[in-house]
Amino acid sequence: MKKILVLFFALLITSLSTVFAASESILVSSKELEAIQKHIGEIGYNILNSNGIEKRMVFIFDNSNKIINAGTSSVSRTIVVYRGIYNFMEDDNELAAVMAHEISHGVDSYDGIFKGLFSGCRYFFTPRKYEYKADKRAVDYMVNAGYNPVAMIIILNKVASQYRYDWWFTYPLTSRRLMQVYEYIYTKYPEYLANNKYKNNIYYQNFLLTSRENREKFQEKVKTKSTKKVHYL
Ligand SMILES: [Zn+2]
Repeated sequence: MKKILVLFFALLITSLSTVFAASESILVSSKELEAIQKHIGEIGYNILNSNGIEKRMVFIFDNSNKIINAGTSSVSRTIVVYRGIYNFMEDDNELAAVMAHEISHGVDSYDGIFKGLFSGCRYFFTPRKYEYKADKRAVDYMVNAGYNPVAMIIILNKVASQYRYDWWFTYPLTSRRLMQVYEYIYTKYPEYLANNKYKNNIYYQNFLLTSRENREKFQEKVKTKSTKKVHYL
């Protein structure tokens, strides 16, 4: 009898945990999903139209919590934004940063088998140069579509973890990506740093802290190249 009781309680506990797990996903109403899908579509098409991108792309929201990322299919130009990364977005600029990066991969897809195969955003197989290129071009796309490109630094600093090495990953180190984005904005769109609306944002403050050494090296480089005495945050 004891054994049966233990089994009964064990079953009850298992079923309870399933009930909780199930109710977690029920919390998301179809109305909310529709609203998010609409939001993603609006930002995606705004970026395409404002940049005169003539290639067809579709934008899909995937409610999977576990994937903190977005991706681009190199065979269908489908751009998927996962719930895991969407949860981190605090404004349209951050969402536009992620989508502009994926759209940039989408623009490159179909172009030759090597480029096409690898243009999706994947941790292990995206050659570094395509990631840097996608980030920089995303900054241009954002500015042209009316978004603040500094948000690219915010979202990258929030969700992209830092691997210990990058010599065996084809994917670049996040700190290098962050610096490249910073340098690109600094050089091409300095007004966004001179009048930086994210200056007091905790994720931006953290970027300033973790990139201090690299930023100083970059400032030195800028100083020796020009007479301009600029120090943008
Ligand atoms: Zn990518």
